[in-house]
Amino acid sequence: MNRTILVIEDETDILTLLKHYLRQEHFEILTAQNGLDGLAQAKALRPDLILLDLMLPGLDGLSVNRSLKKDPATSGIPVVILTAKADETDRIIGLELGADDYIVKPFNPKELLARIKAILRRIDQEHPLQTERYSSGGVELDIARHEARAGNALLDLTAKEFSLLMTLIRNAGRVLDRQTLLDLVWGTEYEGTDRTVDVHIRRLRKKMGEYQDRILTVKQIGYKFSDIDPS
Ligand code: CA
Repeated sequence: MNRTILVIEDETDILTLLKHYLRQEHFEILTAQNGLDGLAQAKALRPDLILLDLMLPGLDGLSVNRSLKKDPATSGIPVVILTAKADETDRIIGLELGADDYIVKPFNPKELLARIKAILRRIDQEHPLQTERYSSGGVELDIARHEARAGNALLDLTAKEFSLLMTLIRNAGRVLDRQTLLDLVWGTEYEGTDRTVDVHIRRLRKKMGEYQDRILTVKQIGYKFSDIDPS
């Protein structure tokens, strides 16, 4: 099972560098280039860890961290702050707000990876049985195991299909328009179209077999996961 890391960083060079190193270690990467997008993705997709730049356009990193730690849905996600300032004040504020670690730019990617792994190891030890499951209308998701089942059958989903199903099921009963799905599953900087979403929904439905009607098409808007158990 691959861990997911959300990188909230507006500088494209640093994003590219981080993606490169994190992918080598088999992490799944989500990216956001501003604070609001980062918060939205953290809430919808619950990554295993967040790398958070402090100087961001719009909502700054400390405000993002504060919101993450206030919301019970995201307060348990470890946050590593990336800062260009070796400024003691920022460091103390960040750690007081519950950030798990911080690293000063320019950083050594190997050191950053070592710190990320140490935090994830610590969390595994503290919460060995912690798991997150969703179940609706006979469809079940086990986030920790990255497993999806329809009835009792294990579904063979790609990472994007799994994220798409997870986003729909977490919002069961709510209509999500295609742009929202693109933002939450692919990230806001991804140049996808409505068709990207439709194609993935079609593949997902096919894999769900007789459970495919749990994903409802809402005409001219988007999709929703039925929260009504048909049995
Ligand atoms: Ca920045």
